[in-house]
Amino acid sequence: MALRLAIIGGGPAGNTAASHAARLGAEVTLVEQHVIGGAAHLWDCIPSKAMIATGGAMGVITRSEEMGLTPVKAALDLDALRQRIGDIEARLEGDTRRLLESQGVRLLAGAGRLTGPHSLVAETADGEVEVEEADAILLSTGSRPRIPDWAPIDGERVLSTRQAYPPPRLPEHLVVIGSGVTGVEFVHMFSSLGSQVTLIVSRQQVLPQKDPEVAAALEEELLRRGVRLLKGARAEGIDVAGDVVSVRCDDGRVATGSHALLAIGSLPNSESLGLEAAGVASDDGGYVPIDESCRTNVPHIYAAGDLSGKLPLSSVASMQGRRIAEHVMGHHGRNDRELDYDKAASAIFTVPEIADVGLAEADAFAAGRKVRVTKVPFSASPKALIESHSKGFVKIVSDPNTGVVLGGSVVGRHAGELVSVIAVAVTNGLRVADIVESLLVHPSLSEVLAEAAE
Ligand SMILES: Cc1cc2nc3c(=O)[nH]c(=O)nc-3n(C[C@H](O)[C@H](O)[C@H](O)COP(=O)(O)OP(=O)(O)OC[C@H]3O[C@@H](n4cnc5c(N)ncnc54)[C@H](O)[C@@H]3O)c2cc1C
Repeated sequence: MALRLAIIGGGPAGNTAASHAARLGAEVTLVEQHVIGGAAHLWDCIPSKAMIATGGAMGVITRSEEMGLTPVKAALDLDALRQRIGDIEARLEGDTRRLLESQGVRLLAGAGRLTGPHSLVAETADGEVEVEEADAILLSTGSRPRIPDWAPIDGERVLSTRQAYPPPRLPEHLVVIGSGVTGVEFVHMFSSLGSQVTLIVSRQQVLPQKDPEVAAALEEELLRRGVRLLKGARAEGIDVAGDVVSVRCDDGRVATGSHALLAIGSLPNSESLGLEAAGVASDDGGYVPIDESCRTNVPHIYAAGDLSGKLPLSSVASMQGRRIAEHVMGHHGRNDRELDYDKAASAIFTVPEIADVGLAEADAFAAGRKVRVTKVPFSASPKALIESHSKGFVKIVSDPNTGVVLGGSVVGRHAGELVSVIAVAVTNGLRVADIVESLLVHPSLSEVLAEAAE
């Protein structure tokens, strides 16, 4: 008899695990209450990048003279943009759903909850459906935006990240609260669509977790575009009076705009999951801790994605899902590489685009570790000049004795694509010479990677 895997939550973690396990021969049931593809498709990765792409297109048009074209003026059509985002989401959901159905995955539309160590129930439109005698269970219910008590979210003037794709009208002046990855992407998104933006930065640097040189490159560009940075301030209240939204900060300063948007982190979707019925432990924050094979404290119950409290990235969630499918099906061996979260590449889709992977120069320095750091600006690249995007740089961090690539950052156009080369090197223990000796395309931005590895 086929192994029975039951999954609650159909985001990148859940649907990847479902597809992969089905391919390996499991009998899979997937319970999803909203959209197959998850928050990643509906509210996070896809709509945010679609809005950023439209802002990017407006940027190209406004810079047309630079490219030898007669200037034209583009006007934003919010309804058309909303439609475009909906079409992309529907297309992606349809593709994922059809794939799972073709693989024989049983899809249950509704909220799922554990009822015991081997059973769960899905509350569907037709009533409760019991899933019993599952050999393995995956919990992949993701997370949702954190909304503090002091934020009167209304979807009109005061927005969560989920209400911004796009809001009913383009904010004349948006106050963004939170200067991590999500916050700065929204700043970039709305300022490139034409809104004036103020960003409340709780520390002295945007992207506080990032290499200071990388964060400085972004700050410089934001300031150049007229974004106002309110540094060292924590928001603690929001007042709405007619068309005016005022964000009160703990140091007495007030940021005023037409709209406010909160991007201050997320909370795991674990409270209605019935964890106690199956004896699954969660931590104080509600996350479900996992071991290196993504198992919870109950060995046949796995957790993945944002719920697991590891790196909150869609790419990480998918990879966990894949690993879980293999583990459940016994397709893992002692020589299999463990999932190393420190080697996950990530990108921030701002201008300049920012991407990094592995060890950062600042972290090596803080740990007192000797590293070799090489940096080459894009201004040296013919391709960057041709494309009229010569700002930014590539930085590669390597071991001075062995030449093994330990990490790197790319700041500039297509950074999210270019960093893949460094990610492959970091994951596979390649040396800088392996990059230098590769025959790359000319003219291409990748040539800067090879130069930085020199
Ligand atoms: C604005 C924003 C932009 C982002 N952009 C990127 C990006 O560009 N790249 C990237 O890698 N990451 C990005 N992320 C992070 C990424 O979206 C998450 O890390 C990813 O979605 C996590 O995947 P997941 O499978 O854990 O959960 P999710 O995608 O959150 O999916 C969980 C699913 O579980 C369902 N669910 C919850 N409870 C139940 C229940 N009881 N029963 C049934 N179903 C349930 C939900 O409806 C949801 O569909 C972004 C995040 C945000 C907030």
